[in-house]
Amino acid sequence: MRIYELPLVNGIAQETTGPDIEVASPATGEVFGTAAAADGAIVHQAFVAANTAQVSWGATPVRSRAELLRSIAAQIEDGADELAELIVREVGKPVREARGEVQAAVDYFTYYASLVTELRGETLEIAKDEEVWLRREPRGVVVAILPWNFPAALVARKSAPALAAGNAILIKPHEETPLSAFWMARAMIRAGLAPGLISILPGSGPDVGQQLVSDSRADLITMTGSVRAGKAILASATQHLTPVSLELGGKAPFIVMEGANVQEAALAAVGSRFANNGQVCICAERIFVQRSISEDFTAAFLDAVNHLSVGDPFDHGTDLGPKVSAAEVAKCRVLLDEAIADGARILLEGPLSPELPTAGHWMAPVVLGDVTDDMRIMREEIFGPVAPIAVFDTEEEVIRRANDSDYGLSSYLFTPDHSQIMRMVRALESGEVFVNRAGSEDIAGYHAGVKQSGLGGDDGPHGFEAYWRKKTVYVRWASATE
Ligand code: NAD
Repeated sequence: MRIYELPLVNGIAQETTGPDIEVASPATGEVFGTAAAADGAIVHQAFVAANTAQVSWGATPVRSRAELLRSIAAQIEDGADELAELIVREVGKPVREARGEVQAAVDYFTYYASLVTELRGETLEIAKDEEVWLRREPRGVVVAILPWNFPAALVARKSAPALAAGNAILIKPHEETPLSAFWMARAMIRAGLAPGLISILPGSGPDVGQQLVSDSRADLITMTGSVRAGKAILASATQHLTPVSLELGGKAPFIVMEGANVQEAALAAVGSRFANNGQVCICAERIFVQRSISEDFTAAFLDAVNHLSVGDPFDHGTDLGPKVSAAEVAKCRVLLDEAIADGARILLEGPLSPELPTAGHWMAPVVLGDVTDDMRIMREEIFGPVAPIAVFDTEEEVIRRANDSDYGLSSYLFTPDHSQIMRMVRALESGEVFVNRAGSEDIAGYHAGVKQSGLGGDDGPHGFEAYWRKKTVYVRWASATE
């Protein structure tokens, strides 16, 4: 059955003058859903609903808010199969990974339900009979602008902390994958969330996205996506000095030093490069291997890539489904062809079964050797199943080359040498460093990039801070003349 969604405000599907956005399965090309874009009147209505509902939600005791977040987690868990199926249909990721994404969505609500009840206030005695109180208050209305690669988990990553802190949230899902966000909002409303607290407003970035981020009623903008869109959002937010948190792209170096367990490092690198078909901001985008172990590492890496299967994402044995869109395949191919023209060598290009549906956006895994740091494939985000392997000689050299990037989201380091770990962790310019392991991240960490990978960050107690306003109260509790 074809899904048809209208913008959701106050729990009600809103008739809109916005254009229909068709949602097609990346595996088959079949259009299986439509989401109608919000129009200006609906965006206005969503702000009004959010402002109204937020007043009593913000005044609700944190323990009651936490209880509701736990009910949301239970609702998502109850519908896990259905949501995972929808994610596979929208994004094309293998069902195994979609189940992991659903679990992450559940975990976000459970985690913030706990964290919010553990927060402590601050008081200071500043003079005789005088104290300062630092109060946490909700910001008000949060606007979340989302990408397509985790269409359910990112709804949770933004809305669980936003709601825990007593805010309302307006969500603009990505044009390619708007449907999972509706599923998530309905689960929240079924769990008992006041419907005005969550709106789903599909539409394009330059249209609905811009309306949301340039509205003076937005109290916080949190966006995950490309650097290009992040900069446009930041520019618009300056009009009203709206606080902004941007989680942007990455170009993670994956560094393997001699002495590392080559087999473990190779398997971790394959997992880190090809998860979600390479469409993860923390994926290993540039692999650097020290010369003395480069042959062994490359052999182990190629062997593991050879075992990856590309196919039907609903098949439990599939490692790589299709890419999300034809445009994403084309973007990878351009970078790949350019690198080959400039002298990069294909070490492996996996076969694609002729039985795959021809309208799907398939791309076989590719491993490249003889890459140089000036190639675009080593500088721009690939976001696909292409693994360039480069060789280096010294620690100093690899740190310089790893840091020679506009991005600074994640990096990976494999070495058993503890002193080397301490030196290199300090020297690597990235918000996250994974040592002797691949991703994924933990909710209790802090997911934040440096350089053009972003501003602010998500997750854990540090990510939670963005959702609060701090109020300082100066209190004299006895008469000054006493
Ligand atoms: P994108 O930037 O094209 O789109 C992200 C969102 O921004 C979409 O909802 C889009 O409609 C909106 N948008 C685009 N232009 C806009 C504008 N001018 N004003 C307002 N909104 C606008 O990104 P994408 O292709 O969906 O996602 C891939 C990118 O996301 C990659 O760069 C990836 O690294 C990044 N990403 C980062 C993280 C992270 O946590 N750092 C996580 C996932 C993805």
